[in-house]
Amino acid sequence: MSESKHHEVIVIGAGVSGIYQIKRLVDLGLDAIVLEGDTDLGGTWYRNRYPGCRFDSESYTYGYSFSQELLDEWHWKERFSSQPENLRYLNFVVDKFDLRRHMRFNSRVTAMSWDEDERIWHLDLENGDTYTARFVITGIGVLTIPTTPQYAGLSDFEGDAFHTYAWPKESIPLKGRRVGVMGTGATGIQIISEIADKVDELFVFQRRPNWSTPLNNSPISDEEMAKIRARYDEIFANCAVTSGGFDHLPEPRRFFKVAPEERKALWDKLYDTPGFAIMASNFADIFFDEEANREMSEYVANRIRARVNDPLLAEKLIPKDHGFATQRLPLETHYFEAYNRDNVHLVDLSETPIERFTSKGIQTTAGHYDLDVMAFATGFDAMTGAWDKITIRGVGGEALGDKWRDGPSTYYGLMTHGFPNLLMVAGPQSVSGSTNFPRAIESGVDWLTNFLEHVRSKNVTRFEASEQAEKAWGEEVIASQERMLMRRSRGWFTGYNANVEGHGEDVVRYLAYWGGAPQYNKIVRRVADEGYPGIDLG
Ligand code: NAP
Repeated sequence: MSESKHHEVIVIGAGVSGIYQIKRLVDLGLDAIVLEGDTDLGGTWYRNRYPGCRFDSESYTYGYSFSQELLDEWHWKERFSSQPENLRYLNFVVDKFDLRRHMRFNSRVTAMSWDEDERIWHLDLENGDTYTARFVITGIGVLTIPTTPQYAGLSDFEGDAFHTYAWPKESIPLKGRRVGVMGTGATGIQIISEIADKVDELFVFQRRPNWSTPLNNSPISDEEMAKIRARYDEIFANCAVTSGGFDHLPEPRRFFKVAPEERKALWDKLYDTPGFAIMASNFADIFFDEEANREMSEYVANRIRARVNDPLLAEKLIPKDHGFATQRLPLETHYFEAYNRDNVHLVDLSETPIERFTSKGIQTTAGHYDLDVMAFATGFDAMTGAWDKITIRGVGGEALGDKWRDGPSTYYGLMTHGFPNLLMVAGPQSVSGSTNFPRAIESGVDWLTNFLEHVRSKNVTRFEASEQAEKAWGEEVIASQERMLMRRSRGWFTGYNANVEGHGEDVVRYLAYWGGAPQYNKIVRRVADEGYPGIDLG
C-alpha cells in the first residue's frame, strides 16, 4: 500500500529538535511525520562520531525534561556524556515513546515551494519522493553543514581524511599512525586531547588559538544519579532562570566592586568547577567591559602558562586577538598537557602557512609533514548553512536564500515573512544559538506547538509574520549582540567562517539573540498571551 504523501504537518530533521517536536504533535493526534536525510535519527549525535566527542553541557541539563518517567528511567553515566551514549539516549527516547514509526529516513528535503492557492507546501526530496503539507516545522540544526578548506592538492592526499562531522562509523585505526588535526575550536580541542596518547605522531595545524578551560568531567555513580533525580525540578528551574540555560547560577556582584584577590579566588574556584561555570557564574562584566575582560583573560593565560612546559609554545596557545569568552568557549580535558608530550607538535599556520596538500601530507612554508590520517575540525556554515541547502520559495516565488543573502531576518527566530505556514525550531535569531541547545529547543517546540493549536482551533489555514514585526525583532537582535564584546569576534557566533564564500573577514552577521533565555522566553510568552500580534492569521 503506498503511503499518503500529504500530511498536515511535516517536521524536517530527526535530531534533538525533531524528536521532541514529533512527540508533541503525535500527542495532539495530528497527522504528522518527520523527514530525515540521514539513515537514522540523532542529528548532531548521529553524525559527530569523532574520537573524544561529548557534551560540554552537564548531561542532566542536556536531556529532555518533558517526561518524569524518562527522567526517572535514564541513568547518565558521566557528567559530560560521550557521543555513543548520547545517541543511545536519543534512541531510548524515540523507542520509549514509539516515535520511530513517524520518521522517514533517507528522506533529505532539497526544495520546498509555497502554493498560495492551496495553502500548502510542496516538498521535493533527494530520493525523488514528493510530499505536501499544510504546515512545515524545521529542526535542521545549527551546526549541520560542515566546511572543509579547499587547499591546493587536497584531492592528491592518499591517507584517510575526514571532516569530524563525517567521521566514519567504523573505527579508524590511529595506533602507530601519523595524524594531523586542523582546527582548534571545541571539536579540535576534544579530538586532540583524546588521541594525543593513542597515535604515533600528532600534528596540530593551528591558525588561531582558542581560549579553553577544564571540563572537569567525572563518572556518575548510582548514588549520585539518585541525587540528581531528586534535584531535577531544581536543576531545570535553574536552567530556566539563567541566561545560557545551565545549572550554574550567576555571580550577582559587579566586577569592580570586588577586590582583585577576591576576584582571583572566585576564578580559582570556577576553574575547578565542571562545565561552563567559568562563564555562567563569572562576573557579567567580563562579557561587556574591556578592562574586566582583559583581567580575566590574563588569569586564564596564566593558567595555560602553568600547564605547558615550553614557555614559547604556551604563548602560541594563548589567544592574542580576542578576549576570554568572546568566542564560543571550548572545554578541555588535559588539552594543554597534550603539548608536553614528545609526539605532539604544534604547527603554527600564522607563522608557516600551508602551501598545499601532497599525496603524503601537508607542505607548509617551513617544510613537509607526512601524514596517514587527516582530521578536519574546521567548523560549520553555522545557523543558516542548513537553510541554504534547501531551495525554499515562498510567496510570489521569492527565494529564502535571496532574502537572507546578507544574514537571516526572522520573527523571533520562529518564522519569517513571505514564507507562510513555515515554523522553525532553534531558528536563526532565536535564543538557541546562544544557549544550552536542548533547553531552548524544548521551550521553542512548546511555543510552536501551542501556536499550532491556536491556529487550528481558529480554523486558520494560513499564517504569516508581518514584515514590520520582523524588522523590529531584527533590531533587538542587533542591539543584543552590539552590547557584547563578542560583537566583532571571528567565530561562528557572528557568522565568521572564511571557508564559506561571503562569510570572511569583515562580515558580521546577526545570527542569534543574545539577551538571554529568560528574557527571550518572556518576550515570546507575551506574544502568545497577547494573541500573537505581528502574525497575520488569514
Ligand atoms: P569552530 O569553532 O568553527 O572551529 C573551527 C576551527 O577550524 C578554528 O580553529 C578555525 O580557525 C579552524 N579553521 C577553519 N578553516 C581553517 C583553515 N582554512 N585553515 C586552518 N584552520 C582552519 O568549529 P568546531 O570546533 O567544530 O565547533 C563548532 C561548534 O560546535 C562549537 O563552537 C560548539 O558550539 C559545537 N560543538 C559542541 C561540542 C559539545 O557540546 N561538546 C563539541 C564540539 C563542537 P580560526 O579560528 O582561525 O578560524
